[in-house]
Amino acid sequence: MSSYRAPIKDMKFVLEVIAEIDGMQKMPGFEEATSETVAAILEEAGRQASEIVAPTNRIGDIEGCKWSEDGVTTPDCFKEAYNEYAKAGWLGLDASVDHGGQGLPFALQASVLECFLGGNSALFLGPFLTMGTIFCLTSHGSIEQQQAIIPKLLTGEWTGAMVLTEPQAGTDIGAVKTKATANSDGSYSIKGTKIFISWGDHDLSDNIIHIVLARTPDGPPGTKGISMFMVPKFRFDDAGKIGAANDVKCVSLEHKLGIHGSPTCVMSYGDNDDCRGWLVGNEFDGMANMFTMMNQARVNVGIQGIGIAEGAYQHAASYAKERGQGRAIGHEGVGPHAIIHHADVRRMLMSMRAKTEAARAIVCLNAAAIDKAHAHPDAAVRNTWQGLAALLTPISKSFGADVAVEVASEGIQVHGGMGFIEETGAAQFYRDARILPIYEGTNGVQAMDLVGRKLNLDGGAHWRLFLKSIGEFSESLPADGQLGDLRRVLEDSVVALHDAAERLVKMGASNPRGLAAGASAFQRMFGLTTGAFLLGRCAVEAQRRLDAGDKDEIFLKNKIATACFYAEQILPASISLYGPATAGDALVFSIDDSDL
Ligand SMILES: Cc1cc2nc3c(=O)[nH]c(=O)nc-3n(C[C@H](O)[C@H](O)[C@H](O)COP(=O)(O)OP(=O)(O)OC[C@H]3O[C@@H](n4cnc5c(N)ncnc54)[C@H](O)[C@@H]3O)c2cc1C
Repeated sequence: MSSYRAPIKDMKFVLEVIAEIDGMQKMPGFEEATSETVAAILEEAGRQASEIVAPTNRIGDIEGCKWSEDGVTTPDCFKEAYNEYAKAGWLGLDASVDHGGQGLPFALQASVLECFLGGNSALFLGPFLTMGTIFCLTSHGSIEQQQAIIPKLLTGEWTGAMVLTEPQAGTDIGAVKTKATANSDGSYSIKGTKIFISWGDHDLSDNIIHIVLARTPDGPPGTKGISMFMVPKFRFDDAGKIGAANDVKCVSLEHKLGIHGSPTCVMSYGDNDDCRGWLVGNEFDGMANMFTMMNQARVNVGIQGIGIAEGAYQHAASYAKERGQGRAIGHEGVGPHAIIHHADVRRMLMSMRAKTEAARAIVCLNAAAIDKAHAHPDAAVRNTWQGLAALLTPISKSFGADVAVEVASEGIQVHGGMGFIEETGAAQFYRDARILPIYEGTNGVQAMDLVGRKLNLDGGAHWRLFLKSIGEFSESLPADGQLGDLRRVLEDSVVALHDAAERLVKMGASNPRGLAAGASAFQRMFGLTTGAFLLGRCAVEAQRRLDAGDKDEIFLKNKIATACFYAEQILPASISLYGPATAGDALVFSIDDSDL
């Protein structure tokens, strides 16, 4: 049983303050994103996610998905939730108008997706992979592929799957062995086994479009020889009419720690030498083109983290109001008092709330940067937003994922022993969250991307500009009062982050293993500091609205309190990570392999 309520008020506020969605409306293509439309969309997505989707979350966890020779079945209650979602047209919210989508900002889609992932993270992993498939085909597919497939994906009649991993090819995608051999009719025969394929088979849609990485004969080894193929579960004609089965089979389902409602499939392609695939984009461009899908999926994993964290926070806050234990220091009456009055429980709830709101603001900025990189009329400005989007993608993914695990763990702690017992549902959040730092490129791989590639983009222009804007913002904060305290820690944090970045860039040239050893600590510093910057911006805007006589006093004062709590209790960890980020690899490798 879940009492999840999508936090649409916070989403709307963050869209206004961080994405500056009102300004986006003036950009070509985003004219429809009026504040009335944004409010109506959030309202309806929030209602559906809370009333129709959330009740399926626990059932999905308990029942899980089932495999048989005939295919994979999902829990019965998923069908209505998925059909309602598909019918409402959410899949095409941010898809291009030229391809039948609504062309609204991704920043808005990010909020809508958070509502549904918050309602049921395992189920809505499916639609986010479909969104990735739509995006991939609009970017790299042929006109024929686009015309036949995209309309079906937009309505949710068909779904998409992202198919990279093989037993020997996890992080190292260059080790992929699945074969694609050209046929005379322009198709390819696909043969190979893929593992861990989310929503690779299921019973929610009529067809499944697998976006598969495979290797053509005689191509160069490693990632340079990989191409991308569209491999449907059922073949179809030019009009999208479904025909014969395509020799695509789920041979088993993984038994796993969490997201039980999401089928994680071992897929076999071409057991009977009759699996056809069609090239997407050019031969050997598979890895580069897959990044279109993977970058979007990385931001979506961050969103998934926020959804789970929000659910865990609401669940814990509600339990803490009901559970009575002892007398709480500073609270009146003889007790037993609800545990929410104990300072340590209160601290955990504030920590859960502050981290979740920080992650939401980071992803919102990332999504808005992607929108502006696409729609801003000025090419130089587009380039700046593109750089910020690239810089923030590993942060959105890793920070959203880590926050989900930490918040879910704190949620269990708030429940005490009952958190460890499955009936309360607190454990499910933790089990569901634990995959997030692993898939879509582990958080360690995100960190390597951040320090190895993103810090050097355009000669380091993007991180410098971003940290400069944080520095300028902190200088603009009042010197005294609550925001003065936030100012002091933020100033120290951004100086430490800047210094660490400079040192890591230098270390990259002389000691790449030292750079790799500090990457995760640096990534966390970056996430923590960015979170404080954005919560600070929210707090300043909340104060401005209060000063202007805005009546929503409680919400606005809570935004300020949450930002200040974050600066006092969470942000100081960033400065303490300066040492681990810049220490190099000497101690990391100081014990012999055989003794570990
Ligand atoms: C539930 C679930 C769903 C999934 N869904 C999909 C899906 O839909 N499609 C799909 O294609 N895949 C999917 N995956 C696969 C997932 O993306 C991989 O598990 C992930 O990329 C890590 O690969 P691996 O498991 O082989 O770990 P490994 O690559 O073996 O990594 C093990 C450890 O080594 C580290 N490591 C490895 N290489 C490096 C390196 N170069 N630098 C630094 N550290 C490194 C990793 O960070 C990790 O800590 C899914 C996995 C799971 C468990």
